[in-house]
Amino acid sequence: MQIRLSFMGAARNVTGSRYLLETDNAKILVDCGLYQEREFRHRNWDPFPISPHTLDAVLLTHAHLDHCGLLPKLAHEGFQGKIYCTAATTEITQIMLLDSAKLQQEDAEFKSKRHKREGRRGPFPEVPLYTIDDATATSPLFSPVKYGEVVRIASGLEATFYDAGHVFGSSMIKVTVNQNEEKRAILFSGDVGRQDKPIIKDPTLFNEADYVLIESTYGDRLHESSENISNRLAEIINSTRRAGGNIVIPSFALERAQEIMWYLNELLLADRIPHLMVFVDSPMAMNITEVFKHHPELFDKDMSILVRRHNSPFNFPGLTMVHTVDESKAINHIAGTAIIIAGSGMCTGGRVKHHLVANISRKESVILFVGYQAVGTLGRHIVEGAKKVRILGRNYPVRAGIAQIHGFSAHADRDELFKWISGLKKAPRRVFITHGEAKTAKSFGEFLHKKTRWEVSVPEYGAEAFLE
Ligand SMILES: [Zn+2]
Repeated sequence: MQIRLSFMGAARNVTGSRYLLETDNAKILVDCGLYQEREFRHRNWDPFPISPHTLDAVLLTHAHLDHCGLLPKLAHEGFQGKIYCTAATTEITQIMLLDSAKLQQEDAEFKSKRHKREGRRGPFPEVPLYTIDDATATSPLFSPVKYGEVVRIASGLEATFYDAGHVFGSSMIKVTVNQNEEKRAILFSGDVGRQDKPIIKDPTLFNEADYVLIESTYGDRLHESSENISNRLAEIINSTRRAGGNIVIPSFALERAQEIMWYLNELLLADRIPHLMVFVDSPMAMNITEVFKHHPELFDKDMSILVRRHNSPFNFPGLTMVHTVDESKAINHIAGTAIIIAGSGMCTGGRVKHHLVANISRKESVILFVGYQAVGTLGRHIVEGAKKVRILGRNYPVRAGIAQIHGFSAHADRDELFKWISGLKKAPRRVFITHGEAKTAKSFGEFLHKKTRWEVSVPEYGAEAFLE
């Protein structure tokens, strides 16, 4: 048995998930993600380590850009195989890729103008990494699969997708290679979700696998224990209402926005907050919420009951999906308290900027952060207590209340990762720790080895492993 596994991304770093599996008869990629950390972004421009037209297929775990964001480039450079993923991931990925292409185009245009003005050249070409046309050209390649269904990918290679409990439609993938009358199962964890998240089901546990690739984003940390999201949210909403301000919630369009709607709905049903106007002001969040509505089969039990009782978090009284920019601007003229959920999640772009302009200098309003804020973003400046911020070319004093709720992470922490992999009844031949910063991945590798005595490695970028 000889299978070659190459780590072409998310190896001692978090983004750019991409693993190449080569058997005697097939070559496949698992994920084809965008590098998002500043120090690794240049890799997005590197030629693919394998010529795209020789690949048989891509197996896609989920719709986050660090897992799917290079697919348009792969297709543009000649990939013609199928992209296998769940139907929900297919639909959400297409929304994400179009948005990403639009940003790539705007970014290239902006940079080329700036460099021209400054009479210099930047480190990357001033052409977009890919265009809207490239993103659109990937759609016919998608081939939706169902959880639990054995899919024949190529001769001697099958894959089965299982719910990862991370974001809507997300998967863990078990690849089975049948070669020379031997069989090996390779389990790709994708991003491991958490127990008891709203709307979606829990991550699937596995009894056995010969090889496991496990993510380690939070492999050296424990999430704050049971910070009660509902209580904090109710407290913030009720006090802001008494003060007469608005609550602006910068939010990611996938999962977080829907989760916030779920919590608001829960608080309303329990009569813990008054009926207020709630605006979802993000075209992307709106489109993704439509995908949620079309796939009730993915809902967990609590969510299914809500929908059956006509208490869906996606159409509670007072909830408005904002369609046009004019509607978006009109929100700022409404008297009384409104809750505004808008993108982008780190305030780097999107309609949230207009709502920040209208609210950040009002002491009665609150800006509520519900997600990670990367270094260097406007969101990070605000949560770190900046007294003045620059938005859309103008300075504004920060007088609004700044609040943060930390309990929303979609990734398992160290103990949750361990619990997931401990489902295995028998030692795998080897575990590869991926998708974590170098220090974190190593720390989780040591932790896992100490606990289980299993063979563990932490592959670096470009490393190859021969699976026997
Ligand atoms: Zn993810």
